[in-house]
Amino acid sequence: MARPSPCASCKRRRRRCATDCIFAPYFPSDDPQKFAVVHKVFGTSNVRKMLQELPVHQRGYAVRSLVYEAKAWAIDRVYGCVGYIASLKNQLAEAQNQVSELQKQLDVAQAQELDLNHAANKRNFDLNQRPSREDGPSGLN
Ligand SMILES: [Zn+2]
Repeated sequence: MARPSPCASCKRRRRRCATDCIFAPYFPSDDPQKFAVVHKVFGTSNVRKMLQELPVHQRGYAVRSLVYEAKAWAIDRVYGCVGYIASLKNQLAEAQNQVSELQKQLDVAQAQELDLNHAANKRNFDLNQRPSREDGPSGLN
């Protein structure tokens, strides 16, 4: 029995879309571009083989990954996903450098705070050691 509306793959290949069509759950007819980009990069036959080798519960993730990678190849024909990965690695290294620099600044600020606290404690200690008027000799008043 055929589906009322063929999936994007079957529509593209002008074939009848069987109820057990492996593409139908992932490539609906209302989003032909999703299948077209994957077909262009990987080929329909290869995508079918990849999906057949996977358990059903992993196929959706695989299709999302294939679509993502195919779109990356469409945008960057030289590096594809590797370009994204390199860019993200650079961003990560930059962020790690910023974290490292901020940690150094925090260490300096904490050391300065400790010095200030130490100085304040010493001053309070010195003030407490100074004789007050009540403690002083009565003849000075
Ligand atoms: Zn189909």
